[in-house]
Amino acid sequence: MTLSIPLIDIPFDLRHTCWFCAEPCDAHFEYHANNHTSHPSLSVPACKECLKLAKQHKLTSIWECQVAVKDELMRIYAKHLAIGINWTEQELIDSEFSCKVFEGFKKSGWMMYLIARDRVNAPSWPIVIDGVPLESDQVNSNFEFDGVKYPSLSKAISHYSETLGLDKLFLQAVVSQVGRARFGYAVRLCRINITSNKRVKQEVLKDLAIEQGEELSNSTWF
Ligand SMILES: [Zn+2]
Repeated sequence: MTLSIPLIDIPFDLRHTCWFCAEPCDAHFEYHANNHTSHPSLSVPACKECLKLAKQHKLTSIWECQVAVKDELMRIYAKHLAIGINWTEQELIDSEFSCKVFEGFKKSGWMMYLIARDRVNAPSWPIVIDGVPLESDQVNSNFEFDGVKYPSLSKAISHYSETLGLDKLFLQAVVSQVGRARFGYAVRLCRINITSNKRVKQEVLKDLAIEQGEELSNSTWF
């Protein structure tokens, strides 16, 4: 049973615009809050691609989700748009990207780069629900674990997935269930399920959801 989730206020000139990447859109992404979420359930306009990414990268707040969607857009377009144009050092320096962000774009065409850049850089408008602004915890999105500071929770998840060979989407789904404070627990849970199939992992997520006293939201995590 799903209660209706409020759509955030949309500025007049941004109607039919994806909240994540500013591309034209006609879908909505519903963020179902749980015990660990610092904001209420809400829904934002999203293009098809960002909708799919957002469902997979819910994490523990809409802002973390947003960072993760941007990271994914970067990853996807860095990979697919490498069409062999060589960049000069000066072009790299002149770009608005940080060196790190730009790494993946070095081999992409200029136009494709511009499109991707604009999607990644698109400033999502502030979240306001029925005229009431939602306090953003975006500035505090840094994440520290085991003595290491990560620029975002999503970066920490990527790091742990790669280093330990974990299922990244599963780890994300677990973290979004148990909250960022139990990150170590989430990692351990993924490690003991390293050879588990999707069905088993789905069961684990269901158990966690029951533990939290909620139904697993209908978002797909894989
Ligand atoms: Zn989008």
